[in-house]
Amino acid sequence: MREFDYQGSPARIRFGAGARAGVAEAVEALGCKRALVLSTPQQANDAGAIVNLLADRAAGLFTQATMHTPVEITEQALKAMRDNDADCTVAFGGGSTTGLGKAIAYRLDTPQIVIPTTYAGSEVTPILGQTQAGRKETVRAASILPELVIYDPELTLSLPVPMTMTSGLNAMAHAAEALYARDRNPISSLMATEGLRALAEALPRIAMAPRDLSARSDALYGAWLCGTVLGTVGMSLHHKLCHVLGGAFDLPHAETHAIVLPHAIAFNAAAAADELRPLSAIFGETSPGAAIHGFAVKIGAPTALREIGFREEDIGRAAEIATANPYWNPREVTRADIHALLAAAWRGDAP
Ligand code: NAD
Repeated sequence: MREFDYQGSPARIRFGAGARAGVAEAVEALGCKRALVLSTPQQANDAGAIVNLLADRAAGLFTQATMHTPVEITEQALKAMRDNDADCTVAFGGGSTTGLGKAIAYRLDTPQIVIPTTYAGSEVTPILGQTQAGRKETVRAASILPELVIYDPELTLSLPVPMTMTSGLNAMAHAAEALYARDRNPISSLMATEGLRALAEALPRIAMAPRDLSARSDALYGAWLCGTVLGTVGMSLHHKLCHVLGGAFDLPHAETHAIVLPHAIAFNAAAAADELRPLSAIFGETSPGAAIHGFAVKIGAPTALREIGFREEDIGRAAEIATANPYWNPREVTRADIHALLAAAWRGDAP
């Protein structure tokens, strides 16, 4: 018998090639006058084009967004908000830039617009991860969820192919774990399945033709669905492991997700066989862990933690941290299990 709770996300979504052209009207529709545009140093030029589109609704450009949202950078951005008389933000970029916009909104409760250029999905979650003195804390609050997301696939044409593949697998990880989430509901499962299907179909097309706008549009659409389920249902073992590897060992976010995913799904497969059936249907393979591994190989994503700087001698400590605090997972987790899983992911074995 079915039993579930459902709450739709209040975030507004505008999706379409060229949709960024409406950014000034969007600021006005939020009742705001002056937006501070945020970006990383690497995306400063493209963010400057958003400042131009905003015209007299632009308060300025702050280009110091960094991975893991350090509090010192947030303080600099808060000063830029005050100095430039800004009353809202437009975050232009991936999860790192979105994180900075969320950190500002968490402190000032100012409205946020996000224009995502990767598939991380942070723009549709009420979750902020920020670091202070080397410690990462995660906070969840209604003020953190951006009011409007403008998805413009033209802005993802510049995302390098390797980053496109790992970021796409990062998105797929949200949906794969949403399928067996304890608090899943019929809508989250539909969104997760459709998000996985869209990315499974789009990423190989982008690998062949990186400037195929239709494939880029399909991938961004999948990323929206996958991010939305990340924001609405609880994640399990896979996200816990990636949080530990990123937080304690400074491994890169999207690559870590791409490598760990087949192993975490293979570990949970027997305990969540019915829930994971959509994965087998999408990939035409009975074992969901092996299916994702085969897909990652096909699209040229990295498959071994040793390739991205994780040291074999750190496996034991990572397993210890990952099992220190209990969390829900469809299958019971022991330290020995995690040690074996991480060792296989370190070598790059097929699960
Ligand atoms: P990122 O934002 O760090 O981007 C990686 C690099 O790619 C940056 O240099 C960026 O400027 C560049 N880049 C981004 N888009 C580009 C484009 N279209 N063309 C050229 N270069 C581009 O990476 P990410 O994987 O998007 O985000 C990772 C961060 O987001 C992590 O800190 C992670 O914890 C966080 N995150 C948070 C949530 C959440 O719900 N709170 C969800 C997912 C990710």
